[in-house]
Amino acid sequence: MANYLKRPNGTEDVTPALIHKWNTVEKVVKQTAESFGFSEIRIPTFEVTELFQRSVGETTDVVQKEMYTVVAKETQYTLRPEGTAGTIRAMLQNGMLAEALPQKVFYILSCFRHERPQAGRLREFHQFGVEMAGSASPYADAEVILLGKTVLDTLGLKDIVLNINSIGCPTCRAKYQEALKAYFEPHRAELCETCQERLVRNPMRLLDCKSAEDQAIAKDAPVILDYLCEECKEHFEAVKSALTDMGVDYIINPKIVRGLDYYTKTVFEFITTSIGAQGTVCAGGRYDGLIEQLGGQHIPALGFGMGLERLILTMEQQGCLFMEQNKCEVYLAPMDDSARPAALRFASALRQMGIRAEFDLLGRTFKAQMKYANKIQTKYLIVLGSNELEQGSGMLKNMQSGEQKAIRLDSVDHFTEDYTNISLSEML
Ligand code: ATP
Ligand code: MG
Repeated sequence: MANYLKRPNGTEDVTPALIHKWNTVEKVVKQTAESFGFSEIRIPTFEVTELFQRSVGETTDVVQKEMYTVVAKETQYTLRPEGTAGTIRAMLQNGMLAEALPQKVFYILSCFRHERPQAGRLREFHQFGVEMAGSASPYADAEVILLGKTVLDTLGLKDIVLNINSIGCPTCRAKYQEALKAYFEPHRAELCETCQERLVRNPMRLLDCKSAEDQAIAKDAPVILDYLCEECKEHFEAVKSALTDMGVDYIINPKIVRGLDYYTKTVFEFITTSIGAQGTVCAGGRYDGLIEQLGGQHIPALGFGMGLERLILTMEQQGCLFMEQNKCEVYLAPMDDSARPAALRFASALRQMGIRAEFDLLGRTFKAQMKYANKIQTKYLIVLGSNELEQGSGMLKNMQSGEQKAIRLDSVDHFTEDYTNISLSEML
């Protein structure tokens, strides 16, 4: 096959046969976020590269290896690798942080990262994300975590473990970074190249390395929780007890880090074992320093990103239910050409009622129309013959049960009335 006929590596097509899965997930995340008082935000697909360098961080895999950057008319732009940076930029640029706080927004968007494609790891993927700006309260942490959990529960997912940790604030972290340096220094030569550099610039990111050798070395590394200052400790305790109050189970996982200076306190991940190695379906945390870092005031904030491809994969693995595929509701089949105008008229009446109605557009014979109606699995069928039209009545057939009900065809109004009565009684 010619190269231009192949989709780029690490991208996916969502065909009409699969779209109901995405519709299911998008509907649930939207409803859930709105029920928590979050409003939708839409941001550009690309931003000036420096925004991501400053917010995602220079020592992350994303910025070091994974960004899609283009130079257009001398400005460097990057396809968004995640949603937080653009969202905070939009909040600042649109004056949202000067309005009533907290600001609570959510988004569903595509992200781009140049990484090695594999199950659950794509180059274009989609995230549902939420960001809340303006609250330092541990209840905000618990609320955001609960929002994520509510989405997972509503979709029917099981066995997803909430992992939480606190990575403290710049004050307590300074001491911790020193301890990590001392721990890893003797192993310097055994570390991967990226981590050798991280050891100098940001040793906490070593804990997040994907290499098995590095993970083995990191096994007995000091844990941040032993280094938290009083304030961070209290905050973490309060988050944990809020979660317990709300009946949310969690485990404490000191390996979960967000190794950036302005990530603070709570970090969390929802992890499943159903889809193999890429098991983190949702990751988030508090980033109290980010808004200030980008030139705004000191406004505490937090959020998460949920990978929708991983979510759908997990749902498939666990046999979760999706909304039904959108299928034809009523197929109108004229028996001969003289009945075609009637098909048009009644289809139009059904569409005005919000019903998905279709009829033949290929000039098929009646027999071929029946074959097609079966293939598209229409729920109802109406046969329109000249006799039926002359007598002013025909049959509405339920294709699943085989049951038939008389329906008036003498006028659009009568037809509409009968259809409404039948569908109400059958709870279409
Ligand atoms: P990982 O450790 O798996 O690389 P990450 O730390 O890079 O994840 P985040 O930046 O926290 O991921 O992104 C939030 C969520 O987005 C992840 O938990 C995951 O569900 C999803 N995600 C991240 N990268 C990809 C990708 N390349 N393909 C599909 N989903 C992804
Ligand atoms: Mg990654």
